[in-house]
Amino acid sequence: MAVNSLESQGKVVIHFPKEKVDKPIICYLTSDYGVMFNILKAAITPEQEGLMVLELLGNADACERGLEYLRGLGLRIQPIAQDIIRIEERCTHCGACLAVCQVGALSIERPSMAVAFEPAQCVVCEQCLTACPTRAMQLQY
Ligand code: SF4
Ligand code: SF4
Repeated sequence: MAVNSLESQGKVVIHFPKEKVDKPIICYLTSDYGVMFNILKAAITPEQEGLMVLELLGNADACERGLEYLRGLGLRIQPIAQDIIRIEERCTHCGACLAVCQVGALSIERPSMAVAFEPAQCVVCEQCLTACPTRAMQLQY
């Protein structure tokens, strides 16, 4: 069956603890649970925590069973139901958020050294919410 003919069951961020990063866990979603997926983003580095953004495709019950399997392995699953916004007037371009953004949604612009935020790259991991001293990064419901 073509992947794009399957019903989308939404997007999730999967956080991998560092001891699981190099294991071929995600492929079992398809082989054991019949869940297809699109990998929208991945930030995986050996021996560090990693994350992957998947769009799940297929039967809703199968997707939930597959996610339960991943949770049982110690992976943290976060549905993407909100957006992250930056309140520009609060941003002092201090750079404190750069270290926590694993997908490059926050980056330094040269030569101005301003901190740029690219919402299209953001996987809503929420790490910058607490890293930002001025609370410029916020969840939008
Ligand atoms: S930590 Fe907050 S204030 Fe500092 S650059 Fe990032 S968004 Fe701006
Ligand atoms: S929530 Fe913040 S740290 Fe996470 S991906 Fe988006 S901008 Fe980067």
